[in-house]
Amino acid sequence: MNPSRDRIVPMLSEEQLQARIRELGIQIAADYAGKDVVVVGLLNGVYPFFADLTRAIELDFDIGFMQVSSYHGGTESTGEVKIVKDLDSAIQGRHCLVVEDIVDTGTTLFKVRNLLLDREPLSLKVCTLLDKPSRRKTQVPVDYIGFTIEDRFVVGYGLDLDGKFRNLPYVGIYQP
Ligand code: 5GP
Repeated sequence: MNPSRDRIVPMLSEEQLQARIRELGIQIAADYAGKDVVVVGLLNGVYPFFADLTRAIELDFDIGFMQVSSYHGGTESTGEVKIVKDLDSAIQGRHCLVVEDIVDTGTTLFKVRNLLLDREPLSLKVCTLLDKPSRRKTQVPVDYIGFTIEDRFVVGYGLDLDGKFRNLPYVGIYQP
């Protein structure tokens, strides 16, 4: 397969994304004011959202990254979740906010959540840029949602198709 930009139909513009991220940042800052927080990004897809969101949260906090893999090419999940890179920061007794690019079946988040809860954070909340609730197979709480979207395969702003399109500043639907 040779993914092409011509097949991407724009869905969320750079302006729409940034405006919503500013709102999320204000809400998260209000909720976590005065608390010891570690904001954990799930690589790779979260990288642009994480950079923009963390800069929109006007608080002082620690950051860390984890990488898990669930997709092995193509547009369908295999259901397997593998830890590729674990978190460096300790979260025991601290407030932990996990940041995701998209929650689809919920499998990835469910596994990551359980893994982090075992480390006894004071609290654990989740923020996702995109949510596809109609695809959920595993129920998992999501506390902050940027946009709820239909069951479409989207790319851009961190989301890839076979490693491509992560660097687009907008989100679009990929038409195979
Ligand atoms: P879940 O475990 O919730 O099914 O899937 C989570 C992961 O699957 C996301 O972090 C993302 O990497 C990938 N994913 C799910 N839906 C999409 C999509 O529409 N587009 C892209 N590019 N990746 C997706």
